[in-house]
Amino acid sequence: MIVVVGCGVAGLTCAVLLAEAGHEVEIWSTSRPPRTTSNVAAAFWYPYHVYPRERVIGWARTSYRRFRELLSHPDTGIRMHPVRDLYHEPVTRPWWEGAVPQHRRLRPDELPPGFAGGFGFEAPVVDTRHYLPYLLARFAAAGGGLIERTLLSLDEALERSPLVFCCAGLGARTLASDPELFPVRGQLVHVDDPGIDTVLLDEHGKDGLAYVVPRGDHCVLGGTAEPHVDDCAPRPEDSDGIVERCARLDPRLATAPRRAEIVGLRPGRASVRVEAEPRGDGLIVYDYGHGGAGVTLSWGCAEEAVALGRAHLPAPRRRRPA
Ligand SMILES: Cc1cc2nc3c(=O)[nH]c(=O)nc-3n(C[C@H](O)[C@H](O)[C@H](O)COP(=O)(O)OP(=O)(O)OC[C@H]3O[C@@H](n4cnc5c(N)ncnc54)[C@H](O)[C@@H]3O)c2cc1C
Repeated sequence: MIVVVGCGVAGLTCAVLLAEAGHEVEIWSTSRPPRTTSNVAAAFWYPYHVYPRERVIGWARTSYRRFRELLSHPDTGIRMHPVRDLYHEPVTRPWWEGAVPQHRRLRPDELPPGFAGGFGFEAPVVDTRHYLPYLLARFAAAGGGLIERTLLSLDEALERSPLVFCCAGLGARTLASDPELFPVRGQLVHVDDPGIDTVLLDEHGKDGLAYVVPRGDHCVLGGTAEPHVDDCAPRPEDSDGIVERCARLDPRLATAPRRAEIVGLRPGRASVRVEAEPRGDGLIVYDYGHGGAGVTLSWGCAEEAVALGRAHLPAPRRRRPA
């Protein structure tokens, strides 16, 4: 038996890998989709302020590949979209450009008014309304079990299993006694899609962050990023600011009917924690602290986490599903 603590994108991805390798796995989690931070995510592939660079680039590249492979499966909610990463001043290429194929400079005719440059590439957009249930279904099909319970200590899980994966997102602050974790409040606005097919991103506007993520029937507009703020109530003035900034990227958004205002707390950390800690006779593998890029890094981090647990993996009980 292996216990995975947490049922967001990190826990589910680890749990799917373990269960499909033939292990007996239980997810123990306070909440399950749709009540996780992972559900809130705009969820386009982008290594947004995550470190350390040398590990992030590999995790991001692996996840990009896995999302592409999943395109052929129905019901995943994954689609590829062009991205325009926009800048007000000329800039050098981002450090993670090698993680995506065909990262290129945008032509002047591809820039909205007021922008001096930018980069274009194609990236997965993951509709979490479909993707998280898809992962849950894969996990269940591989024989995985889900128990809704809140842990006060990881030792509770170690009593059940010598191998525990801690994928508790912001909950790892108390569960892993990690003072380095902090909330980064993010607000989003969902609007009717006025016909946008491209992800638009302006990270460096003088009034704040702006991004537009098309999801077929609606667009997700972001956003805000407030470190150390854990207030989850949407603020009308934030929504107005988000719509105003996004309308500078595509003016049709100024009048697009609003559907919802949503707030989530990113699990901020100076560096993502993917590491193993022996405790007694057991092993805890941590996979949390992905900030604003937990979907972007999900497969790469989960594959590394599972590899870290390999020495403690019990023999698979079932045949691997075909
Ligand atoms: C506004 C916003 C926009 C975002 N946009 C993007 C984006 O475009 N692209 C991207 O890649 N990422 C994005 N993110 C970031 C992404 O949402 C997170 O990095 C990711 O969801 C973290 O996943 P997780 O599984 O670690 O955490 P969570 O989804 O928070 O899951 C943690 C799980 O652990 C459980 N848990 C916690 N404590 C305990 C406990 N004590 N006992 C039992 N269970 C416990 C919880 O119930 C939950 O099931 C965004 C986030 C926000 C808020």
